Amino acid sequence: MLIKDVLCPFCGCLCDDLAVEVDNNKVVDVQHACKIGSSKIMGHDRIKAPMMRDDKKGEFREVSYDEAINEAAKILANSKRPLLYGWASGVCEMMKKGVLLNEEVGGIIDNTASVCHGPSALGVHEKGMPTGTLGQFANRADVVVFWGCNPVQAHPRHMSRYSVFAKGFFATKARRGRKVIAIDVRKTDTAELADEYIQVNPGMDYIVMSALRAIIAEHADVVPDNVGGVPKEKLVEIAETLKNAKFGVIYFGMGLTQSRGKYKNIDNAVSLTTELNAFTKYSIIPMRGHYNVTGFGNVCAWETGFINAVDMSRGYPYYNPGETCSNDLLMREEIDAAFIIAGDAGAHFPAQSIARMGKVPVVQIDPFHNPTTEMANIVIPTKVSGVELEGTAYRMDGVSLRMRKLVDVDFPSDEEVLDKIIAKVCEIKGASA
Ligand code: SF4
Repeated sequence: MLIKDVLCPFCGCLCDDLAVEVDNNKVVDVQHACKIGSSKIMGHDRIKAPMMRDDKKGEFREVSYDEAINEAAKILANSKRPLLYGWASGVCEMMKKGVLLNEEVGGIIDNTASVCHGPSALGVHEKGMPTGTLGQFANRADVVVFWGCNPVQAHPRHMSRYSVFAKGFFATKARRGRKVIAIDVRKTDTAELADEYIQVNPGMDYIVMSALRAIIAEHADVVPDNVGGVPKEKLVEIAETLKNAKFGVIYFGMGLTQSRGKYKNIDNAVSLTTELNAFTKYSIIPMRGHYNVTGFGNVCAWETGFINAVDMSRGYPYYNPGETCSNDLLMREEIDAAFIIAGDAGAHFPAQSIARMGKVPVVQIDPFHNPTTEMANIVIPTKVSGVELEGTAYRMDGVSLRMRKLVDVDFPSDEEVLDKIIAKVCEIKGASA
């Protein structure tokens, strides 16, 4: 059976045009997806049963779901400072349960944005964000800027579906009608495909943006001959291209959010975009990584008022990035238990944080074996959302889409596991679920 209009549960593009061949309740072929999306839907490194071990260096032993869930609940209920991290590769329905669990255990709930686009949120707190949808950009944009991002590697179908090669209602000439500019510290595969590549010295994005803003505001006279490794003539040329767009869009990535300047880079990029709107229409948008990292920001915000790094130890939501993000807490050695779900702290956290996780009990809820499994004490496998479970996810531009179920499996969903853990935690703590 060929199932059409399937969404891809991998990156923030959330491509919704996949066709998946299912035979005898098994996915046998995935059409239209890129390699990474297809690989996830086909399945790999699946954890087959719940597992536990006391010694992280020891072997896992298979246990029942009940035993693993009860032990996970005990760890959380007895912890003074539990961290509940991940959430970005799950559906919104389970995220809501996660916020509730965090409330019950008085922990800190944080998602993968903590190590990628968290600074983008801070930039938005400062300045707001003139943005739009990927559909709008595909239909209209004739000048496309990729700043500190590399979609060829990280979002392989972004260029063909939305930004560069896509034909649009107004962008009828597709690639031939678009000017593509890549700004990065190194010549990425995306830069190879661009019309213009601007190489910025590492950590100098902020001053390059400031120089562009000065030129656009007709103060080119104050700009030195070379800014952050970019010659002034080149900046003047780029400023003209930006101003002369009919509709421009700036896509930015972790090259801005995780380099020197961090959220101030985003603050400055938003100002640049806003000022370009005095000449023409401009939008800016972060290139979100995990397929539903945007969804967690929404769910967490409507449940707690904040998008991530929410500390419930006081009994009310407290948010202060720099203090309440996962790595702030791990590096201060405050965390005494870690609950990692739908995200891979083991792959993305710095060594100091990993060292701390090596010393505290770690519970992992995930369909797949990954580096977090190596430091876990309890591992509980669940359904793969978007393949074995339907649910809601938010694309990188904030558009919510419904993911489909393609096959039936016996694994429980994240939501079912969370429900049971919440009930057990309440039982241990003597509260009602
Ligand atoms: S670009 Fe992203 S969402 Fe689209 S198929 Fe590839 S991994 Fe999946």
